[in-house]
Amino acid sequence: MGKVYLTGAGPGDIELLTLKAYRVIKEADVIIYDRLANPDILEIAKDGCEFVYVGKEDGRHTLPQDEINEVIYQNALKHKVVVRLKGGDPFVFGRGAEEGSYLKQRDIAFEIIPGITSAISVPAYAGIPVTSRGVAVSFRVVTGHETPNKENSQINWNSFKNDDTIVFLMGLHNLKKISSKLIEIGKPKNHPCAVISRGTTKEQKVVIGTLDDIVQKAQGIPTPALIVVGKVVELRNELDWFSK
Ligand code: SAH
Repeated sequence: MGKVYLTGAGPGDIELLTLKAYRVIKEADVIIYDRLANPDILEIAKDGCEFVYVGKEDGRHTLPQDEINEVIYQNALKHKVVVRLKGGDPFVFGRGAEEGSYLKQRDIAFEIIPGITSAISVPAYAGIPVTSRGVAVSFRVVTGHETPNKENSQINWNSFKNDDTIVFLMGLHNLKKISSKLIEIGKPKNHPCAVISRGTTKEQKVVIGTLDDIVQKAQGIPTPALIVVGKVVELRNELDWFSK
């Protein structure tokens, strides 16, 4: 039986891979990868390494999660070094916990290799620090997948009232609902907001606006994209480096 490495691939820029991820990718007999993992990473693998794509689009699954779990398990029965490569960090909305539990229940050894999450690095490549002295003492990373007005929402929207920086992942299709909800709970209409698409890559696009106009400004922007809300967005005026 093999060992499974639940591995973060980072946000896009291949150089944001950790040295540990790099090492196991080089040693891998099989790499099971997602849509968000930069496919150039596969070129690091040794000759004869097998590749299995189990990608999913924001919520729309190419393979349901239980089938992905089973694919990983079956590969661990056949191969020595199994790399499960995921965009960003495997435990930040990456379903790494479910995959780890599934393996644990079947006595398959695994390791977690954290990755650089898009939640922090994508804003950074847009010149937006998630915290900054005197501007934001906290940041929160939230799923934007859940529609804000859904009954029995797991998200306590009122708790965002005093939050500094809020980063929404998987929220582009809900941008209108999210921005209206934040205004509804008391954020000013002119509160700064950014949408960053394909961050850390050559195709990175950054749209800067306010809760009131971001929907209109971000129209047509491609996924993957994340939303940053908070005063830190204004620091981009000084800190933008990547677009140059
Ligand atoms: N585990 C990943 C997140 C998975 S959820 C991580 O730690 O980064 C997928 C969401 O991440 C996307 O819907 C998008 O909101 C965000 N995302 C991932 N890569 C991105 C990128 N390069 N640019 C912008 N957003 C990205």
